[in-house]
Amino acid sequence: MKPSRNRNSGGDALPSAPELPAHGWSTDETLARLEALRRDDVRWKDGRVFSLAYFATPDAHDLATEAYRRFSGENALNVDAFPSLRVMQSDVLAIVARWLAAPASARGFFSSGGTESILMALKAARDQFRHDKTRPNVVLPASAHAAFEKAGAYFGIEMRRVPVRDDWRADALAMRAAADDQTVMFVASAPQYPQGVVDPVADIAALALERGVNCHVDACMGGVTLPYLERLGVSLPSWNFVVDGVTSISVDLHKFGYTAKGASVIMYRTGELRSHQAFVTDNWLGGFYGSSGVLGTKSGGPIAAAWAVLHHLGDDGYLRVTREARDTAMAIAAHVRAHPQLTLRAEPDATLVCIGAAPDTTLDIFAVADTLAARGWYVDRQQPPPSIHLTVNAVHADTYREFLCDLDAAVAEVAARAAKGEAGAYGTLE
Ligand SMILES: *Cc1c(COP(=O)(O)O)cnc(C)c1O
Repeated sequence: MKPSRNRNSGGDALPSAPELPAHGWSTDETLARLEALRRDDVRWKDGRVFSLAYFATPDAHDLATEAYRRFSGENALNVDAFPSLRVMQSDVLAIVARWLAAPASARGFFSSGGTESILMALKAARDQFRHDKTRPNVVLPASAHAAFEKAGAYFGIEMRRVPVRDDWRADALAMRAAADDQTVMFVASAPQYPQGVVDPVADIAALALERGVNCHVDACMGGVTLPYLERLGVSLPSWNFVVDGVTSISVDLHKFGYTAKGASVIMYRTGELRSHQAFVTDNWLGGFYGSSGVLGTKSGGPIAAAWAVLHHLGDDGYLRVTREARDTAMAIAAHVRAHPQLTLRAEPDATLVCIGAAPDTTLDIFAVADTLAARGWYVDRQQPPPSIHLTVNAVHADTYREFLCDLDAAVAEVAARAAKGEAGAYGTLE
């Protein structure tokens, strides 16, 4: 199936209206049309979507929605006007700092998402070294997120991608060879998205120390989950500020923080490092203008939702939902490992599972994804190599057994028909 599944197929009741109504619609009519529009959307709250959305509990979801609603019109562009948002942002940053084992010197900003957090870390590094590194580059593994490419394209920073090792983890030795005197940053992911493994952060941070440059850890996926996995006894390499040389870390709260979309944190080891992110000007007719990140106007909705969900789930809640997600991911991994026609690309370090066709088969894994879609399951498709990707979260604890039955059936069906599928896309251009 093509990734254009979200479009209203139109035709019957309540089609969308591509023009401003001459007479405004009533609340009821408008809401009815909104509900009609979402008819073809994936059903993520039912636990049938392994990508794009996260669901801890109905209570946490409802609370996030309510907090968002109450603060959606508030504007964190100026927290002098909204001291509530100043307090919420600083509380959220303090909580995240503990997860990251950040030192007392650490300072961060609340951002709109992983992409903004990453963009800002790279922009800060470029500006920090602008005097002696005028053709800046960043050395990063091939597995690092697409957002780094975006940052490079936006800010004129060369992205030096280095192939990963056979185990999909970053190759620190090869990264060392790719760096030069224009390198401003090395990147590690915890975990990387495609195969779900944690890079050797300490080895990569050591490269940064050696050159006196920055090391960013992309913990957009793992920033909330890894601290709890460690407490659950999962053995992981060091990945946060306990590692000397790590200068910044990105953590998405709208992923495994289970809050509403538009919530991430970019944390720096010191306020000095963070200072290169912020923007100020008075070179216009409107007076002094300062802003922390890409946004100008910054809705209070995501901030209030994040503050609410963090406090509502609490430490015990995050431990519980992390255990649920992890147990589910490991059960899926065990099933795939034992399946003669499937292969597990890597043992999951966290809660991401990457599945390919076993090397001695002709199975088309994207056709398996198509067949799963026909049965109401939405999985990510990625390459190279062609794979199905599952972002397993707490919601799947109740649905994964049914998923595995359908996975087996889909594999059998595709093998019998020798069906072919299409790759799809992680992000679209609309
Ligand atoms: C999701 C993700 C990002 C990008 O975050 P967005 O919130 O989608 O902007 C970056 N890195 C990793 C590892 C991610 O999983």
